[in-house]
Amino acid sequence: MSEKTPKLRAELAGVPAYVPGKPAAKDGPLTYKLSSNENPYPPLPGVLETTVAAAGSFNRYPDMACTGLMAELADRFGVPLSHLATGTGSVGVAQQLLQATSGPGDEVIYAWRSFEAYPIITQISGARSVQVPLTPGEVHDLDAMAAAITDRTRLIFVCNPNNPTGTVVRRAELERFLDRVPDDVLVVLDEAYREFIRDREVPDGIELYRDRPNVCVLRTFSKAYGLAGLRVGFAVAHEPVAAALRKTAVPFGVSQLAQDAAVASLRAEDELLGRVGSLVVERGRVVESLIGQGWTVPETQANFVWLRLGERTMDFAAACERAGAVVRPFAGEGVRVTVGETEANDIFLTAAAAFRKEL
Ligand code: PMP
Repeated sequence: MSEKTPKLRAELAGVPAYVPGKPAAKDGPLTYKLSSNENPYPPLPGVLETTVAAAGSFNRYPDMACTGLMAELADRFGVPLSHLATGTGSVGVAQQLLQATSGPGDEVIYAWRSFEAYPIITQISGARSVQVPLTPGEVHDLDAMAAAITDRTRLIFVCNPNNPTGTVVRRAELERFLDRVPDDVLVVLDEAYREFIRDREVPDGIELYRDRPNVCVLRTFSKAYGLAGLRVGFAVAHEPVAAALRKTAVPFGVSQLAQDAAVASLRAEDELLGRVGSLVVERGRVVESLIGQGWTVPETQANFVWLRLGERTMDFAAACERAGAVVRPFAGEGVRVTVGETEANDIFLTAAAAFRKEL
């Protein structure tokens, strides 16, 4: 056999692996998955029925233009159809954004630590990541991010609330930041957890984008709407950004099941947002208990909490798992724990209290 292998792009060397949240154990004692920021509620019966009905024609390709979903989104968010683009989850749309804007020689700025897909998709594009550390309070340092802009910067991610810390940037500071970004640099407001926000000072990106042609908002059906397994997300942006996203989409990437489920979810929004409300109440309970136990918990506006455990991160994650709650450790940094079912949260809180006592 030849010694030669097919030539691959040099940029792929050293691309960090995406670490998916560990699943709950299949056998043995019951464990809960609190590692992927999923919605713990099962699909709504009506949404499930619609999706099962769509499965009856999966011998056909889906509607490539996502016509029904696009119309529903335009109506729901009060935006023109030409300002919308869909993709295979918002991570799919984020990848389309990089394809549309960035390549070798370009720079992409984002906070760190933030969503772990950013370094992966940036490196694959050939652009260079410029990671700006979070403040000691675990919040985006928007001044430092603005200072990091050069004439090579093509795209800036602002993850609001931030994954994995749950922290937010508020209206005044975000607007001040946007005012400082040159018009030809795209700012992507990643609002995957938007529906969990209760702080009124956090702006809705879809309001901010309206008179800012260099702002793009990313949203997903994976979290509040409970469709993580179906892979559908969308962007709201002015032309030509939205058009570029439609060009870079994987043809037929969003299945008909996902499209129909997303439409059904928008129509069942009251019920779904009611569930989000219950999770927000649970979040309050989890945060209060942790603070009562003596932990420092950054203020979270998402469906997860962040504990900066440093060197004790992996031990803590193992202790939670032994107790029956699978969490998401970032070795040497901290642990992100999704707010899940009440029983799961209780198991996690008991494990956290026991760990704390041994410190
Ligand atoms: N953005 C952020 C900040 C996320 O945390 C996630 C999911 N972990 C995504 C985007 C992507 O979600 P999806 O592709 O399921 O829409």
